[in-house]
Amino acid sequence: MTFFEMTKTALRTILSRPATILYPAQAAKKTGLSRGHVTIDPARCISCGTCQRKCPAQAILISKEAKTWQIDRFRCVVCNSCVDTCPVKCLFMDTQYSAPATAKGVEVVAITYVKPVKPPAGKTESTG
Ligand code: SF4
Ligand code: SF4
Repeated sequence: MTFFEMTKTALRTILSRPATILYPAQAAKKTGLSRGHVTIDPARCISCGTCQRKCPAQAILISKEAKTWQIDRFRCVVCNSCVDTCPVKCLFMDTQYSAPATAKGVEVVAITYVKPVKPPAGKTESTG
């Protein structure tokens, strides 16, 4: 690169708008294809384990005993497979800003879903 070409490039860069934004102070540009990060509605998760089985990165771990759903943010490759396969649609991609993951990266969420109690067999609700 000649001195003239280098000066031209430097001047063009100085005078043009920055290619980056001051995220998160400035909102990031999102499209319909933006993915974000996996989020769960713990009140609807039935602990079926489908998301754990379908995750290609082994980023999700379900514990039926502890009633927890956990995700390792450093393993997740944001492929959307868990979101697509969850039978109750309680997983979704959140495109809002989230703080950077900690050094461990594992997020544990307590599942709060309560299975509805079936009425005893033979009893029907009175219609008044
Ligand atoms: S988005 Fe993909 S990699 Fe990330 S947790 Fe879901 S299935 Fe796993
Ligand atoms: S998040 Fe969905 S797929 Fe995963 S265990 Fe809960 S209900 Fe099943």
